[in-house]
Amino acid sequence: MTTVPDPLALPTMEAVCVTGEERSCGATSGTLHTSDELTRWIAGHCAQTGHDFYHRTTRATLRAELGAWQ
Ligand SMILES: [Zn+2]
Repeated sequence: MTTVPDPLALPTMEAVCVTGEERSCGATSGTLHTSDELTRWIAGHCAQTGHDFYHRTTRATLRAELGAWQ
């Protein structure tokens, strides 16, 4: 079988602020749909806190299809 991106389900993304030495800030953007929104959230958080290290996760939906790898 193979997996293909589901064209009806847009990928979602989320940023987490990992700035901090002993423990990271941990502020999260929540689920967003474009990297523009993500950048805007980071810009706002950075302006408020001066935090400058973030992790980004992207979640994409896949659909399994029967095929060569059964
Ligand atoms: Zn932060």
